[in-house]
Amino acid sequence: MQPGTVEVKDIPTPKPAFGEVLVRVLAALTCGTDLKAFVRGHPMIPMPGLFGHEFSGIVEEAGIGVRSFKPGDEVMSVHTAPCQECPYCAMKLYNLCENIMHTKILGAFAEQIIIPQHIVMQNLLHKPPQLSFSEAAFLEPLACVVHGMRGLNIKKGDSVLIIGTGSIGLLHLLLAKLKGARVMITGLERERLETARHLGADKITLPAQLVENIAILTAGLGFDYVFECTGQVTVWEDAVNYTRRGGTVILFGGCKQGTVASYNTYRIHYDEITLKGIFHFTPADVKESYKLLSDGMINVTSLISGNYPLEKIHEPFEKLSRGEGIKYAIMP
Ligand SMILES: [Zn+2]
Ligand SMILES: [Zn+2]
Repeated sequence: MQPGTVEVKDIPTPKPAFGEVLVRVLAALTCGTDLKAFVRGHPMIPMPGLFGHEFSGIVEEAGIGVRSFKPGDEVMSVHTAPCQECPYCAMKLYNLCENIMHTKILGAFAEQIIIPQHIVMQNLLHKPPQLSFSEAAFLEPLACVVHGMRGLNIKKGDSVLIIGTGSIGLLHLLLAKLKGARVMITGLERERLETARHLGADKITLPAQLVENIAILTAGLGFDYVFECTGQVTVWEDAVNYTRRGGTVILFGGCKQGTVASYNTYRIHYDEITLKGIFHFTPADVKESYKLLSDGMINVTSLISGNYPLEKIHEPFEKLSRGEGIKYAIMP
């Protein structure tokens, strides 16, 4: 199978083994990673293969040894959990666990999904009744954003630039506003910029006016924090120029494999710019994401551009590849 095609197949209902839980998926969200896989293939998503990793649902069957979940429980989950055995887990760098990517589950665009024991034990959570299933499915993408902001100490009044108006850029916006930052966001699509304005952005700008607006908004200094949420090498490189002296660039968007970015060494050295790579999340980030969603601190509903049944799964991906909409919910 080639990128650009999706097929829905009937397979036998899986049976949960010891420690596993079978979940009936009620909502699964499209994600930038899925879109990359759909358009060009993805190193972390084998093809042909299952996909979909942001989901929520109802427990259908719990395997032997599962104590915290029973049939009928409403749950939300992420698709990975650390092994707790490798050198990186020993260093508590759980997002960098050597096994986290090859023990992940894909296949949330399905009626049912098996949650393996290591995820059941660390990252499967009970969905609070006030959250819809689609909202609950934001647990994973929001955990990634929480991870990227952890340790940055963004305070009230700090200036933040977000480059990219996809769902990840917009989640950064919601979280930065929650911390009290002044946020400017830039992206190519006017409609998404309008959504950003509606979500609380202090300033929206097309890339063509970016430099001029940075000068106005930061009195010529540049931003305290710049979040790169596009995964384009040229944007990775440019992000450094929008940061003030002593500022931090957060490189969130993964670029194509094998790409190389280059930087002005004087800028990094004499202006003491921090470049920070960001990957994935830890169980602590999942818990914080859970709390933000459950407490209604982050309102994600306007990031969902529509709902589709599983049979029409190609439609939202075609829309996303044309830049239409932000995230779609598949309701199997
Ligand atoms: Zn995702
Ligand atoms: Zn590990």
